[in-house]
Order: sequence, then structure tokens, then C-alpha cells
Amino acid sequence: MALSKLPARADSAALSRLASSVPTDETREEIPVEAPYSGINIQTIPASTSADVSAAVERAREAQPAWADRPVSERAEAVLRFHDLVLDERRELLDVAQLESGKARIDAFEEILDVATTARHYAHRADEYLEPERRKGAFPVLTDTRVYRHPVGVVGVISPWNYPLTLSVTDALPALLAGNAVVVKPAEETPFSALLLRDLLREAGVPNDSFQVVTGRGSEAGAALVEESDFVCFTGGTETGRKVAEQAGANLTDCSLELGGKNPMVVLPDADIGKAVSGAIQGCFTNAGQLCIAFERLYVHESIYDEFLDRLVRRTRGLDLSPGYDFGPDVGSLIGSDQLETVESHVEDALSKGADVLTGGRARPDLGPYFFEPTVLTGVSDEMELAREETFGPVVAVESFDSVADAIELANDSEYGLNASVWTEDGDRGRKVARQIECGTVNINDAYAAAWASVDAPMGGMKDSGLGRRHGREGFEKYTEAQTVAEQRAGSVTAPPEGVPDGWYAKAMLVSLRAMKRLPGVR
Ligand code: NAP
Repeated sequence: MALSKLPARADSAALSRLASSVPTDETREEIPVEAPYSGINIQTIPASTSADVSAAVERAREAQPAWADRPVSERAEAVLRFHDLVLDERRELLDVAQLESGKARIDAFEEILDVATTARHYAHRADEYLEPERRKGAFPVLTDTRVYRHPVGVVGVISPWNYPLTLSVTDALPALLAGNAVVVKPAEETPFSALLLRDLLREAGVPNDSFQVVTGRGSEAGAALVEESDFVCFTGGTETGRKVAEQAGANLTDCSLELGGKNPMVVLPDADIGKAVSGAIQGCFTNAGQLCIAFERLYVHESIYDEFLDRLVRRTRGLDLSPGYDFGPDVGSLIGSDQLETVESHVEDALSKGADVLTGGRARPDLGPYFFEPTVLTGVSDEMELAREETFGPVVAVESFDSVADAIELANDSEYGLNASVWTEDGDRGRKVARQIECGTVNINDAYAAAWASVDAPMGGMKDSGLGRRHGREGFEKYTEAQTVAEQRAGSVTAPPEGVPDGWYAKAMLVSLRAMKRLPGVR
């Protein structure tokens, strides 16, 4: 059923209340927000100006010390209450995320899982991550050296539209737990998920000014947030990431950049073909391929290529591409006209240069304005746009390889380095191949969730896919300033004690250095 005939679940009065809760000093230009299933405008949101963003950051800056003064256990309790609220209020969150992103409900549900998992992890581990650490001192026994972690102040989070629940809040949770205040600028297309989550965080006990959402355009509100923040956590396209890094760099503001990908999946000859095909379906078509860690390149060993391809094409044809606010459809809509245009132009360019479409390859305006069929292509070569550029749609190119070395070379032949997967029945072999793939995460016998959902382990991009990491200790410590406090209990490390001639001191130090090299406790 075309969704223009399907009533949206999300309550328009609730959307209107959320839009009017965005703090702006005066009436601002209104940005329309569209429901991708139907192309109908559902609401408008204010285009916050740089003055609005400055005011939000100022409020955050004032609120931050009191928030940081609370015991970490209190901040963790608020995040655990938020965890429960997200699960309790999941239906409204799913309705809103689907309405503004056009994704299938199962894809929105993945976001609920992710938000809850990340909240649980960081709430339980924040205490440990903030614990002062004893490090080896300059001189054993004589120097007591400890490292303390302080919040950086105000963290700016800039997020894209593809995972509006996850990406507006999961990077903010460790920042909050570390004692920072956070200001989020969600994508213009999907502001309501972020605003709803803000309300849940407030209900959970996070003070209003410690977590704020400003809506508006990246060029103004986003840039102002980069300008004003003490740390910027940016998720989005590589070209925007470069601009953010440049602006942050000019201010010597630290930032992490989670950027685009052109992710490879490698199927080794001993892989379980059925499982690998299921992995490819999930890895290529989840969220209609609008997933930074989705696969757009599949490399399959020639001994199993025909069978793999045949099964992949049959399974792809069987996917349910349709709109719907209930669980059921496998694949939803693209976000909007720009994304549809990119996907169509990449496929047309490939076809015009000799690629073959085995299934899909067409827009489906009968289902909604931005639906595009899950598409499998072969014969993709280097001069085609979709060989190297991120398509960010439900389109995958399949190619065979004859040696594992070739597969690794093909996988690494990209400016990007975000996520990969390797399929094999031999775990050791999988790990050996994985370590040679230049990507920040590599999954063995899974598409992306094994690494992504291992929230204790760092996730991020190599090469043009980013800077820094989210998740785990790395995704927490980036929001802190490390401070080393060292107490010298006797004498000085670099000056002779009073009355001792320099020459004697120098001799004694040389003996000490030689001895310390050999002492296992002094490394
Ligand atoms: P985008 O165009 O780069 O936008 C991302 C965010 O940046 C939006 O909120 C945008 O505002 C804002 N922005 C734009 N210009 C800015 C500027 N000059 N200064 C500060 N902020 C600015 O990306 P997108 O199209 O929303 O998202 C798709 C991309 O994100 C894909 O490349 C995908 O691979 C990547 N992504 C990466 C990850 C990861 O973890 N590595 C995860 C998800 C997505 P507007 O709302 O005005 O556009």
C-alpha cells in the first residue's frame, strides 16, 4: 500500500510541541520536514541562527559545572533511567523515527537496541573510566604519578539523518557521563527523534541545559556549534567532515569524525554460502543501504561465486520493499530526492559503461516518491562512479576473486576504510585476513553488528572514513582532558641535591639509568 494513503502514527500535535520547544530568541525561518514515505511535509522546525547556537552553548557552559560536580553514580543512574524510558517509549520513538526517515520499522528497532546497549554500557563503566589512574613515576618510589580525567566542558554533537535515534544520542551519553554538557545539531531531515530523546533524558534527570538540541542548517547552526564547542563529535559525509576538521583545527578544538565508507565484504572459499548470503542481504540492504557500515562491494571466491550470486539474487528479489508503520517490510524508502538522484545516477552511469543489473535497478514511485529497488550488479569496473564513490543506497556490486591476496587487495583499493566483513569457517584464517584489511572494524561471519554492538570496543574509520573512535574507553576518554599530577617525594629528578657536585650527580644518574633499564618494574 502506498503510504500516502496510510495514516502516520506519530501525533502531529506532539510534533508541533517538539518544534516549538526549540529555543530561539525570535521567530526564525522555518525548515520543512518531510515524511519520505509520502513526500508530504509533516511539520516545520526553526532554522536556528548562530546567535541561537551561541546562546544554547552559553546556557550549557553555565550548567556544566553543577552537572560535573554530581557524583558519577548519580549521572549513571540518570542514564540507566533513560535506558528504561527508551524501552518503555519505544513505540513513539519508532513512529517518529520512521515518519521522518522513511525507514522500515525493523531498521528503526535496531536503533532502540543500540541506544539501550550504549546507555547500559557507559552507565555501568563511567565510574571505571573516570577512576584516577596511577602511572609509573619518573623515579620508582620517589615519584607518585597519577592521571585525572576532567570533562572538556561543552561537547557539540552533529549528526546525520540515517540513524536519527542512535546518532543523535549515543555519542552524547559518554560525554554526559564524563561530566560535560552537550548540544546536539541533528540533520535538518530528522530533528524530531533527537527532540524526543532530549525529553526522555530530561525526564530521566538530566538537567535541561546540560543536554540541548538546536535545529537548523549545517552551514549556519552546525558551523556555529563547531565554533563554540570545546569538543566536536561529528558524524556525516567525508566532505563535510573535512570542513568541520578545518574549522575545529583553526580554533585548536579537538574533534572526532565518523565519516563515509565504501565497505567491502569478502567471502572465502570455505564460507558457509547460506550464512554469507544472509549476511550480504543484511549488510547491503539494511536501512535501504543508507548505513555507513553497509556493503557496496562484495568479493566472492570464484569456486563458490555462481552459487553465491544465484542465491543472493533470489533472496534479494524476495525482499519486501514497501512502506508501513508495522513490522513486516524488509526495506523502506530512501530519505529524499537528493539521495534518490545519487542512487539513480550511480546505477545509470554503471549501466551506460557496461555493468549488468541482475535484479532491481529501478526507482519505485508506485510505492512512494523515494523508493528504490534492492539492486545487485556485476561487471562494475573502476571508471564507474559506483566503483569508488559512496552510493548510500540499496545497491551492491559483486565480483569474483581467485586468491585471498587478491581479495585483500581489492578490499583495500578504496580511499575509505570504515567497515568490512570476512566469511570463512576457519576463525584463525578469518582473523588473519581481517587484520590485513584497512578498516576500523572487521566482522567475521557477520555483516556489521558483531563489531558495532561490541560497544566495549572502539569503532571508527581509517583513511577518509574518519578520525578518532566512538565506543569503549576510546569513545569516553575523548571527552576528557587528561591531567597528570606527579608528587616528587624526595630530591628532584633533574637537579643535583643540595651540596652534591654536578659531576657526582651526573655519574649517579648514569648508574641509575643503566640499572633502571634492567629493572622489570621500571618500564
Ligand atoms: P552530511 O551532509 O555531512 O551532514 C551531516 C550533518 O552535518 C548534518 O547535521 C548537517 O546539517 C551538518 N553539516 C552540514 N554542513 C556543515 C558544516 N559546514 N558545519 C557543520 N555541520 C554541517 O551527511 P548526511 O548526508 O546527513 O549523512 C550521510 C553521510 O554520513 C554518509 O556519508 C554516511 O556514510 C555518513 N555516516 C557516517 C557514519 C559513521 O559512523 N562513520 C554514521 C552515519 C552516517 P544539515 O542538516 O543542514 O545537512
